[in-house]
Amino acid sequence: MKIESYACGAWVAGVDEGVEVRNAINGESIGWVSSMGLDFADMLQHGRRKGGSALRQMTIHERANMLKALAKHLLEKKEIFYAISAKTGATRADGRVDIEGGIGTVFAYSGIARRELPNETFAVEGNIERLSARGSFLGRHILTPKHGISLHINAFNFPCWGMLEKIAPSLIAGVPVIVKPATVSCYLTEAMVREIIASGILPEGSLQLICGRTGDMFEHLNEQDSVTFTGSASTGRMLKSHPGIIANSISFNMEADSLNCSILGAGAGPGTAEFDLFVKGVAQEVTVKAGQKCTAIRRAIVPQEHVAAVIDALKERLDKAPVGDPCVEGVKMGSLVGLDQVEDVWEAVHQLADGSEIVHGGKREFEVVGADCDKGAFFPSTLLYCDKPFATDTPHSVEAFGPVSTIMPYANEDEAIELARMGRGSLVGSVVTADNEEATRMVLGMAAWHGRILVLNSDCARESTGHGSPLAPLVHGGPGRAGGGEELGGSRAIKHYMQRTAIQGSPDTLTAITRQFTTGATPKIGPVHPFRKTFDELEIGETLISHRRTVTEADIVNFGCISGDHFYAHFDEIAARDSLFGKRVAHGYFVISAAAGMFVDPAPGPVLANYGLENLRFVEPVGIGDTIQVRLTVKEKIWKARRPDEDRATGVVVWDVEVKNQNDETVAVYDILTLVERSDD
Ligand code: NDP
Repeated sequence: MKIESYACGAWVAGVDEGVEVRNAINGESIGWVSSMGLDFADMLQHGRRKGGSALRQMTIHERANMLKALAKHLLEKKEIFYAISAKTGATRADGRVDIEGGIGTVFAYSGIARRELPNETFAVEGNIERLSARGSFLGRHILTPKHGISLHINAFNFPCWGMLEKIAPSLIAGVPVIVKPATVSCYLTEAMVREIIASGILPEGSLQLICGRTGDMFEHLNEQDSVTFTGSASTGRMLKSHPGIIANSISFNMEADSLNCSILGAGAGPGTAEFDLFVKGVAQEVTVKAGQKCTAIRRAIVPQEHVAAVIDALKERLDKAPVGDPCVEGVKMGSLVGLDQVEDVWEAVHQLADGSEIVHGGKREFEVVGADCDKGAFFPSTLLYCDKPFATDTPHSVEAFGPVSTIMPYANEDEAIELARMGRGSLVGSVVTADNEEATRMVLGMAAWHGRILVLNSDCARESTGHGSPLAPLVHGGPGRAGGGEELGGSRAIKHYMQRTAIQGSPDTLTAITRQFTTGATPKIGPVHPFRKTFDELEIGETLISHRRTVTEADIVNFGCISGDHFYAHFDEIAARDSLFGKRVAHGYFVISAAAGMFVDPAPGPVLANYGLENLRFVEPVGIGDTIQVRLTVKEKIWKARRPDEDRATGVVVWDVEVKNQNDETVAVYDILTLVERSDD
């Protein structure tokens, strides 16, 4: 069987025989992989022209909804993927991380995009920057999708998650993708891409797949393209320094191997909950995916007096995790991805053993349950102990990408921090301690070398997602040896595929471009109260100027009695005279309550609910006798898809509110969010 690529709208097999890929458990042939004969320049053009233009016509929320539909579809098909995943040596639990973890990441990105980004084809970022004295010249940043493709070169260990966690932010950004999985496990990625393409959920051209090598694709990349790479530091460096990448300043996000650490706190000796959590965490990171995880704990840093106890406890746990065919009942750890990887890991263990002592596993003879050790890519869980971790660099530089971890002692906190830093940049580190003072010192000491730090103790352990799980809203990536990139990280990952541009101009120009009302823009004042208009009838910039109201002492007294707020600045004449204001002033909350009373149109209408208030600032005090007036302006409209359980279609209208006094001074500014009925559905 030939594993195919999906290029320019068709499934294509390589024209030569290619490379054979085998079942990691029994060595049986799965198929042949080759990309020979693909026209890589055509693939790029197809993606840019067909996929890119289709995606750019959709709004960010439409793209996010499309991905939600895709995630639902893949979830329905998950058993297809589990069956294939077992051939990569993965247990059901390993497969869950890859398959359902990957699908969960797509769901998460869909939600992040709809919550944090506007329902436009582009995004507006940050505040309006005032660039002139009179306010007629302003600046603001926008983010638009790049008009290129994103090429994702992925590692072998997560054939599904590795693809999904990268395509989700790229497609939401509006940028089509070309996925190149690692050859050894590409058959699982191919199976998932077949389901994606067959579903018809993504526009043609937005997803293409290369099974095999990337040929001359790098020669044809241009300044609008992006590359992400996950794999070994050596390949990453080689690709990142390709002349085309350098000449065109092509964005290259790299995630390479890292020597992640976990530190046991000084007070977390045997018998404490944290000691058990530490041991459980290290053992888990050895056995999950047979240690083939970029986030696995390669270095366990332990107070010197607890080393013996940690080694004993780890051995006991690992003895309870039999290695073998993941389909056989009771097997807790599967195989490595292939026989070549087995030899790579043995080579790394030999290097590590020079300067460290093997204290568990590490022998070629070991028990394998339900499979033939010679045919499958099995490796025993292996622990080393390095008693002089400052005297040798090997455990801080050699990564055995399998079920292998090295324990090392520390004498004091500074040593623990120094050892963490000796990884020269890691994706993740963890500190297991109940002492928050110790945690603070350790985190601040090692943070500059880490992309993510987990502080684990009995307060959060039950709900903790653990050391090894990258999460969609949090940064995944690390400095230095870890590649210097950021793959995940909430909307940051989406913005990675977009171009940030500073736009300068007048308030009216910025309002027109950003489709958000910019203070200073010409208000649109009409005869109809804006609360009488539906979502689709309202226009950005539409404004109501309210009647005026003079604030009296009775207002302050009444509001104080209703709210129970008798703060001296409102009620104590003498103290108020000595206060910041020099007189009694109205409650700030009275001002915004009074403002609401001045701008609402009370009769039933299309405005259904007020569900929030943001960015509130009280700028000037309002005293007895001051007269206030309100400006209410449609600032932003966020169209919402109607859910099946909703009886009417709605959108969110963000109103810019400004309250001024009789001297034309602003006393309060804020945004209010209302749900407004749509008449177009
Ligand atoms: P590689 O760096 O060799 O491969 C990673 C990806 O790059 C694969 O898709 C590979 O494709 C591709 N690739 C390799 N050479 C080229 C090239 N010249 N042009 C374009 N693409 C290329 O890593 P391995 O998968 O062999 O793993 C080796 C080591 O990397 C592991 O032992 C581990 O140390 C580390 N690693 C780190 C991971 C992480 O998440 N940080 C994950 C996996 C591995 P192909 O398979 O076709 O060669």
